[in-house]
This record gives sequence, C-alpha cells and structure tokens, in this order.
Amino acid sequence: MVVAVEYISKEESDDAETATHGVTGILAVQGAFAEHAAVLDKLGAPWKLLRAAEDFDDSIDRVILPGGESTTQGKLLHSTGLFEKIDAHIKAGKPVFGTCAGMILLAKKLDNDPNVYFGALDAVVRRNAYGRQLGSFAATADFGQLGSPDYIADFPLVFIRGPYVVSVGPEASVETEVDGHAVALRQGRILATAFHPELTGDTRLHELFLSL
Ligand code: GLN
Repeated sequence: MVVAVEYISKEESDDAETATHGVTGILAVQGAFAEHAAVLDKLGAPWKLLRAAEDFDDSIDRVILPGGESTTQGKLLHSTGLFEKIDAHIKAGKPVFGTCAGMILLAKKLDNDPNVYFGALDAVVRRNAYGRQLGSFAATADFGQLGSPDYIADFPLVFIRGPYVVSVGPEASVETEVDGHAVALRQGRILATAFHPELTGDTRLHELFLSL
C-alpha cells in the first residue's frame, strides 16, 4: 500500500477533533503509523497520532503499536512519557493492537534482547528472527478458529523482518500459524501480529480490533 501524501502532515482524522471517546491512538514516534491511519480512514474510524504524552487524552479508547524499530520506539516511549499512558491503558484491560515491532513491545520476554517494554502478552518473542534471506515474505492464512465469530479466512500476510514467536504461555492463544508456527496472538483485548496487516489493503483485522 502506498500511503497518500496527505498523511505526512495529518495528525488526526477529521472527526477526531470533536470526539470525546472512540478514538484510536496510533503510536507515532517512529515506524509505519501512517499506514494504520490510512486503514482506519478506510473504515471511517476516528484516529489520532500519539507523539507526546499530551496527545493521549480522554478520547482515546484503543491503541495501535505499529511496526518499525522496537528499540527506538522503546526509547522514545520513555522520553515522551507515552510509556506510562499506554502501560496504564493496557493494564486497565483496554484494547491494544501490536503489529511486528508492536508485538515485541507487548511481549513478556524477548529471548535475544534483555529489554522488556509493556510485558503484557504471555509469549516469548525473538527479534529479527526471520534472517536476512527470509526477512520479508508474503503468505496467506486464516485468522482465528473456524466457526468462531471472529474467524477470518485467507488473510494476506506480509512479513518484514518480523518477530518469531518462540513460545506462547497459557494466557495467550494462537490465532494464525504459518508452517505450524504462531504469527498472530490474542490475549483478551490484546491483539498481536508478527506480520503487517496495515500494508495489504485488507481491513478485516482492523475491523476485528475495532470490535474488541
Ligand atoms: N526488526 C524490528 C524490531 O526488532 C521489527 C520489524 C518490523 O516492525 N517490521 O523492532
């Protein structure tokens, strides 16, 4: 997906300014945040970029943690004060969607990095585990259990040096697998994918997130 030039200068959707709740806050300190904003626009869902702690106001009901570089995002989360805001949001059981680096930020433990960020998702994740040759690839797979209301068939998966799910604890469930390996996890109102649903033009996973 090519992100329209208009997103370079947009800080929020047109309807977000007057909204008192129901707005999705998209972490925008680094990474692929504009692509998530474009998907939410397609769905007519209000959004606001989170660049500073003040951006996290009472209108924010849900949060997206985009792909990018988790180490950089982690540092900027702390220096902006957004870490505390988003951490409190997650601890209150409110919806959060982490894609790629966002999954790393959510994981309880990283197996090749001493850092832990939100530590909310019951899984061990390895950064950059899809090596240089296999760093980026596309596939399709189903999301969720056949027969469940949240089931999504043939979802397109785009991986860009995505994290590898090493193990999944009892609190989290595996929603999508590729070659028998977990690439999407869910834990209550936490959704995390090793792939980039915002890059395919398929809005179904974002619709599911908005329904959580
Ligand atoms: N390599 C990134 C990291 O470790 C994740 C890759 C991505 O978000 N596309 O943060």
